[in-house]
Amino acid sequence: MSDRDGFIWSDGKLVPWREANVHVLTHSLHYGMGVFEGIRAYNTPKGTAIFRLPEHVKRLFNGTKIFQMNMPYTPEQITSGIIDVVNSNELKSCYIRPIIFIGSEKLGISPKGNTIHTAIAAWEWGAYLGEDGLNKGIRVKTSSFTRHFVNSSLVRAKASGYYINSILANQEVTANGYDEALLLDTEGYVSEGSGENIFMVRDGIVYTPDLASCLDGITRASIIQIVKDLGLELREKRITRDEVYSADEAFFTGTAAEVTPIRELDDRTIGDGKRGPITEKIQAIYFDAVYGRSAQYQSWLTYVK
Ligand code: PMP
Repeated sequence: MSDRDGFIWSDGKLVPWREANVHVLTHSLHYGMGVFEGIRAYNTPKGTAIFRLPEHVKRLFNGTKIFQMNMPYTPEQITSGIIDVVNSNELKSCYIRPIIFIGSEKLGISPKGNTIHTAIAAWEWGAYLGEDGLNKGIRVKTSSFTRHFVNSSLVRAKASGYYINSILANQEVTANGYDEALLLDTEGYVSEGSGENIFMVRDGIVYTPDLASCLDGITRASIIQIVKDLGLELREKRITRDEVYSADEAFFTGTAAEVTPIRELDDRTIGDGKRGPITEKIQAIYFDAVYGRSAQYQSWLTYVK
C-alpha cells in the first residue's frame, strides 16, 4: 500500500505517496487516539462526485472535538484537501481516507505537548464484501466479542483504536469461513458489523438498531432517508439476534460495504436466502444516488471539478 505512485495530502501539502511517512514514536501509533473517515467518490455522468462530503467532514471534526484534539485546519481546508487528492491522483471512482492523528514530540498517555496532524489518501477500491456479496448476499456470524460500551468508548467519534474490537470480531468469524461479523452490545442486543450498520425488514417495515453503541453511519442516514422517501415505515429500536434470524430480509450498510444483503446469520437462512425485494429496491436507489443517476439525491454529491 505504501509503495505506489500518486500524491497524499499531508499537513496542507500534496506530497509524493512514498514520502507520506510518520515517525515510529507517533503518539497515535502507540495509544490509538486518532480519528478518520472512509469516503467514496463515484464516476457519474457529470464527472467524479464525492458522496456526502460535508457529512463526512462534520463527523471527522466532531471526533476531534470529542477527543479534544486541537485541529490546526478548518473544515473548508480539509474539504478542499480531499478534493485535491482525488483530482491530483486522477481518480474517477475511489475510496478516500482522511486521518487526524497525534504527533511524535512526546510519548506517555497524556497527548499534551504534541502537535496534531492530518493526512488524506485516495485509491481505487471495489466492492468491500465482493461483487457476489452485493448480488447474492453474504454469510454473517455473531462474534463472541462485545461491541463498545457507551462509557468506555465514545462511538460518535470514528476512532482508530476502536477498530481493535472490529478486527477481533472480523478475524474470529472469517477464520471460520464467514464473510463478516455481527457484534452485540454489552446487553446482548444487535449493534453493528465490524465496519457496517445493520438493517432488517419484517412485514414490510424496516428496522435498524438505535445509535447507542454503533457508529452514526452516513450510509445508514442515507438509507433511512431512502426508506422514508419510498413511503416505508422505518423503526429505530433495540433488536435481538433472533429477530434477525426470523426477519424477511437483512442487509449491511457502509461507505465501503455500500448496501450488502445478508443471506445468512449464525447458520440460519434469512428469508429466502437471497437478496430480498425491499433490499434490492433500496440498493438500486442507493446506487442511482451515488452514481449521480437520481435527480432526487443530487444534493448528496460534491463534484470534484
Ligand atoms: N459501523 C462501523 C463500525 C464502521 O466502521 C462503518 C464504516 N465507516 C460503518 C458502521 C458505516 O458508516 P458509514 O456509512 O458512515 O461509512
